[in-house]
Amino acid sequence: MTRKAEVIIIGAGIIGAAIALELARNGYKTLNIDKLPAAGYGSTSNSSACVRFHYSTWDGSAIAFESYHYWKRWEDYLDVGDERGFARYVETGCLVLDYPSIKLPILLADVGVDFEYWDIETLRKNIPIYSEFDFSPTKRPDDDRFFDPPERKLSRVLFTPSGGYLNDPQLATHNLQRAAEEKGSKFLFNTEVVEIRRKELQVLGVTLKNGERIDAPVVVNAAGPHSSVVNRMAGVEQGMNIKTRALRQEVHNVPSPVGFDFEKNGLVTSDFTTATYHRPEVGNTILVGSQDPECDPRIWVEHPDNFNRQTTTAQWKAQVYRLAQRIPNLPIPNKPSGIVDLYDVSDDWIPIYDRSDLEGFYLAIGTSGNQFKNAPVVGKLMAELIHACENGHDHDTDAVKIACRHTGHVLNLGFYSRLREIRSESSFSVTG
Ligand SMILES: Cc1cc2nc3c(=O)[nH]c(=O)nc-3n(C[C@H](O)[C@H](O)[C@H](O)COP(=O)(O)OP(=O)(O)OC[C@H]3O[C@@H](n4cnc5c(N)ncnc54)[C@H](O)[C@@H]3O)c2cc1C
Repeated sequence: MTRKAEVIIIGAGIIGAAIALELARNGYKTLNIDKLPAAGYGSTSNSSACVRFHYSTWDGSAIAFESYHYWKRWEDYLDVGDERGFARYVETGCLVLDYPSIKLPILLADVGVDFEYWDIETLRKNIPIYSEFDFSPTKRPDDDRFFDPPERKLSRVLFTPSGGYLNDPQLATHNLQRAAEEKGSKFLFNTEVVEIRRKELQVLGVTLKNGERIDAPVVVNAAGPHSSVVNRMAGVEQGMNIKTRALRQEVHNVPSPVGFDFEKNGLVTSDFTTATYHRPEVGNTILVGSQDPECDPRIWVEHPDNFNRQTTTAQWKAQVYRLAQRIPNLPIPNKPSGIVDLYDVSDDWIPIYDRSDLEGFYLAIGTSGNQFKNAPVVGKLMAELIHACENGHDHDTDAVKIACRHTGHVLNLGFYSRLREIRSESSFSVTG
C-alpha cells in the first residue's frame, strides 16, 4: 500500500514539531513520523532547555534572542489550547561567569540583549552561595591540582536578565504538536522510517519498518541524534561539507545547599571557569551539565540506538565537584542521579538548516546541544526555506534571508549551509 503526503518530517522532537506548525500555517499538509510513542520523547525530553544569548557568533545570539520572544509569549504564539496545559518560561536571568571573549558585550549590545556587569560585591549580594573565584583552567577531580585553593577572583561577570529556561521541554513539543494539528498536520508515532526512496535527484518518499510506503515530494530530516543515519539512507552525506554525529552527554541533579531555595532564587549560570552550566530544577534541586572542557573525554556514539544510558561515577564527580567549586556548601549525595542522552553535533557545533543535493530533501540537524531554545524560529526559517526552494529559488547561490518579527534583525540562512567551511569563530562546544 502507498499513502501520500505533501511534506514528511522525520522526527517529532522540538525541531520537527516546530517545522510542522510553521509549514502548516503556510498551508502545507505535513506528516511527522516518529519511532517513539509521543512528541518530544527523543533527546528533547532530556534537554536542560536553557535559554541564553551568549553564543560565539552574531547569528547564534540573534536567533536565540528572537526565539526568547516566542517563549515569553508562548500561548499567544501557539494560539490554541492543549489539554495538558502549556510549558512555562521561567525567566531567572542568565549569569555568565568570566565570559570568554571580550567581544561578547559588544555582540550582545549589537543584538539588542540587555545585560549588566556584576562586580564581586553584586555577585555576593545576589547569590550569596556562590564562590567569587575563578577556577580556570578547568580540571578533572582526579587531577592533583583540582583541590588547590583558587588564586584569582572572577573578573568578567555578566548578567542577562532575559535568560531562563523552559520548565518542561517535552510539554513544549506537545504544545507545538497540538497547534500544528489544529492547522491540519498529522503525527504518526511508534513508526520507524527505514528507507528514503529517490528517483535520480528527486526524493520520492519513505518506506516504514512495516513495509508501508508513503510518497511525498518533500521530506525533512529532523531526526536529532539519528540525523546521520537518515542522511545515509538518503545518500546525501557526500554532498555535505559539514556532517553530524552523536555525542553522549550526562546532566546531573543535586539538592540545593541547606538554607537556600535555588528553585525560587537561583538562576541559569554558565560558568566558563569550571566548564559547567547549571539551573534551578523542581524539588529545590539544581541541574548541572557540562560545557565540554578539553580535559573531558568526548564519547562519540557510532549508532545512536546503542549507548550507555547510565550515569557514570567519573562524569558525575567531574560535573558535581565542579559545581561544588562554585557552590562550596553544595551537599553531594553518595549516589549519582541524572540523565544520559545524545547531542547531534555538527563539525563546527553550528546547526545545518538547509536543503540537500537531493531535490525535496531538507536538513534541520546538527543542533549540537544548543538549539532547543531556537526551535520556534527554526520552524519559521525552515518553512520559508522549503517554500522558497520548492518554488524554484536557488538557495545555494542566493541564500534565503528571513526577517525577525520581534527584534527586526535579518537572518541570512547561508550561515547554516551544509556547504559552508567550518566556522572557526565557533566555540566548538555546546555554547555554539
Ligand atoms: C542533555 C541535553 C541537554 C540540552 N540542553 C539544552 C539547553 O539547555 N538549551 C538548548 O537550547 N538546547 C539544549 N539541548 C539541545 C536540544 O535539546 C536539542 O538541540 C533539541 O532538543 C533537538 O531536537 P530534535 O527535534 O532535533 O531532536 P529529538 O528531540 O531527538 O527528535 C528527533 C526525533 O526523531 C526520531 N527519529 C529518529 N530517527 C527516526 C527514524 N528513522 N524514524 C522515525 N523517527 C525517527 C526520534 O525518535 C526523535 O524523537 C540539550 C540536549 C541534550 C541532549
